[in-house]
Amino acid sequence: MTKTVLITGANRGIGLELVKRYLQEADWQVIATCRQPENAVELKQLVASSSNRLKILPLEVTDSASVLRLSNELKDATIDVLINNAGIYNDKGQKFGAINFDNWAEAFNVNTLGPMRVTEALFDTLKRAKLAKIITISSQMGALGRKATGSFAYRSSKAAVNKAMQTLAYELEQEDMMVALFHPGWVQTDMGGSEAEITPEESAAGIFNTIDQLSKADNGKFFKWNGEIHPW
Ligand code: NDP
Repeated sequence: MTKTVLITGANRGIGLELVKRYLQEADWQVIATCRQPENAVELKQLVASSSNRLKILPLEVTDSASVLRLSNELKDATIDVLINNAGIYNDKGQKFGAINFDNWAEAFNVNTLGPMRVTEALFDTLKRAKLAKIITISSQMGALGRKATGSFAYRSSKAAVNKAMQTLAYELEQEDMMVALFHPGWVQTDMGGSEAEITPEESAAGIFNTIDQLSKADNGKFFKWNGEIHPW
């Protein structure tokens, strides 16, 4: 049976690679969202070769009107897997004493509120699926157990989305749905940089395989890209 995945921030990096990975499976339809579909050159090329299995829709995750337009467009759809992937790391190297609080608010808006805003708006489409999977790409940098300094905005926005999604997982305990978070690895993207440990292909393949195997028993868990549990 055909299933549908919706991926945010799908025009580059890990999001784009997840689109490619799902398209390798003939039974998956992919909805790739991005801020500027007109400039999403690689996604548009994929549409041409996807036999109608890839649709590109506009989505700016901080903009309620944009999120509402998406949910209206998809009001009759069924979404089996939602991957909240869009994210920003806008305080790299920023230290205490020179914190830019506008950056911090923006990081929260994209990384924490974004996934919740999109999940809430698409909830009806997820309810129609059999065991819908609500996935958010978080980061090890949001793990409270890791000793670290700097990047207050990014770290706290990811810690907050971990808590928000874990809370949602408990709220949805009785529903035929599940929620999980992922650290995608340190990945060679614009965000991760060229020195990063793994390629976007490796990250996307690991995330795909892990999502595929998730069951209700995994509701509310935080995973690494390779399927291992990530400590909170
Ligand atoms: P990139 O910077 O390569 O891509 C980020 C994506 O998010 C782009 O598609 C970007 O769109 C999109 N995006 C940013 N802001 C918004 C917004 N307001 N609305 C909609 N889309 C937006 O990052 P990665 O692919 O590396 O990261 C993907 C996810 O993985 C992020 O959540 C990140 O925090 C997480 N992560 C990445 C790691 C890494 O090593 N790369 C490590 C740990 C976590 P646009 O092109 O329009 O800017």
